[in-house]
Amino acid sequence: MVDVRLTLDHCVKCNICTTACPVAAVTPLFPGPKYVGPQAERFRLELEPMIAPEGSEAPSPDHSIDYCSGCGICSQVCPQGVKIAEINTRARAAYVGGQLPLRNQLIARPDLLGTLGTPFAPIANATLSSQPLRGVVESVLGIHAEAPLPPFAGRTFQQWASRHRRVRNAVRSVAYFHGCSTNYYEPGLGALTVQVLERNGCRVIVPRGQTCCGLPLQSNGDFPAARAAAQRLVNTLLPYAEAGFDIVATSTSCGLMLKREYIEILGLDAPEFKIVSERMWDICEYLWHLHEQGELQTDFRPVPLTMPYHAPCQQKGHGIGKPALDLFGLIPGLRVAEMTSACCGIAGTYGLKKEKYQIAMDVGAPLFAEIRATGPDVAACDSETCRWQIAHGSGVRTVHPIEVLAAAYGICDM
Ligand code: SF4
Ligand code: SF4
Repeated sequence: MVDVRLTLDHCVKCNICTTACPVAAVTPLFPGPKYVGPQAERFRLELEPMIAPEGSEAPSPDHSIDYCSGCGICSQVCPQGVKIAEINTRARAAYVGGQLPLRNQLIARPDLLGTLGTPFAPIANATLSSQPLRGVVESVLGIHAEAPLPPFAGRTFQQWASRHRRVRNAVRSVAYFHGCSTNYYEPGLGALTVQVLERNGCRVIVPRGQTCCGLPLQSNGDFPAARAAAQRLVNTLLPYAEAGFDIVATSTSCGLMLKREYIEILGLDAPEFKIVSERMWDICEYLWHLHEQGELQTDFRPVPLTMPYHAPCQQKGHGIGKPALDLFGLIPGLRVAEMTSACCGIAGTYGLKKEKYQIAMDVGAPLFAEIRATGPDVAACDSETCRWQIAHGSGVRTVHPIEVLAAAYGICDM
C-alpha cells in the first residue's frame, strides 16, 4: 500500500494540480493543492515530533486547508503520483482536531439524520422546503438556505428489501451496499438496482444493519468517529466478503471508501478491511464486467432521450474508466453527451455550508451551463450529492445510471 505522506517527495512543483483545482480557480481563500498539499505538508512533518501526541495526526500549520473540498482532482492529474487530496484530508483532520462544530457533526451523520427524519418526513420535508425556515436554519446552524437538501422518502430501502422476494434461479450471488442516501432518500433507486441485478441472474442479498461508511465524518475531519463508522460497516459486510460474495455499491463515493480510502486515508490496515476492499465493485463497473464476460442481458428497448452524463470526481477516483458510458452505449436511441467540466462543486457536505455554498456553485457553474447547452431531457451522474447539486444548479432532473438501464430493460419509465 502507498504511504500517502511519502508521495510528497515526488512533487516536482509543476503546478498542474493547482491549474486543475476547481476551488482555487474560484476563490482567493484557497491557495491551491501544491501549496496546501506537498509544500505545507513538509512543515507539518517537521512539527510532528514536537507537537503531535503519539498516534494522532500531525498538526496543520495553515487554516486554508478547510477550503479544500476533497474532490480528489489534484491527485488524479498529478503526473508524479502525489496523493495530494489524501494528504489534505489528513491535514484537515489534524487542523480540526476532532472538534467539529455542531453543524458539521449533524451533516456528517446522514444515518442519524435519516433515522430521525424518516418517521417525521412530512414535517421535515415541509421545513426543508420552506425558505423562511431554511433562513432560520442557516442563521442558527450555518447550513445555507439554498443548499440542495433532498426530501426524506418517508420509508427506507431496508423496509422494501425485507419484503422483496428473492429470485430462485440465480446464477450468482451479490451483496448490495446501498448507503445512507438510498436508504433514506432514494429507496426507489435501491429497488431498481436489485431488479437490474436480478435481470442479470443475480441473487441480491441486502445485508441488514448497514450503517454509514463514515465518509462525511472523514471529510469533515473527525477521523476517530470515521474509523468507528468504518469498523461497524466492515463488520457487517465481512461475512459476505469471506463467503466470496461480490459487494456492489450504487454510491460511488461510499464505495470508494470501502475500496480504498479506509486503508489509504484512515490508515485502517486490519485484515478485515482488505478482505472487504477486494470484493467491492461500483455498480456500473460490475455490470460492465458482466458484459465483458458475455453475461449481461442486452435486450434493451430504445430510450430516445438526450442525456448529458457527468462522471463525478469520486467515480473517477476508482480508476475504472467510465463504465456508465460503456453501458449507455448498449442502449438504442439514447443520445449521450459526456460532460467535460470537472466538478459540480458540492463535494458531499462541502457545498451545504453557509461559508462555502457560493464557492461550490461557482465551481459547478461551467458544468451546469454545459448540461443546459445539450438541450437535455434528463442528466445522469453516479453520485447522489452531485445529482442533487446538478439538479439544483442546472434545473435539469438528474438520475443514477441504473435508472437509465432499468428503463431500457422496461423495469421503469424515465
Ligand atoms: S501536480 Fe504533482 S508534481 Fe505537480 S505541483 Fe502538483 S503535487 Fe507537485
Ligand atoms: S481535492 Fe480538489 S479542492 Fe482540494 S486541493 Fe485537490 S483539486 Fe483542489
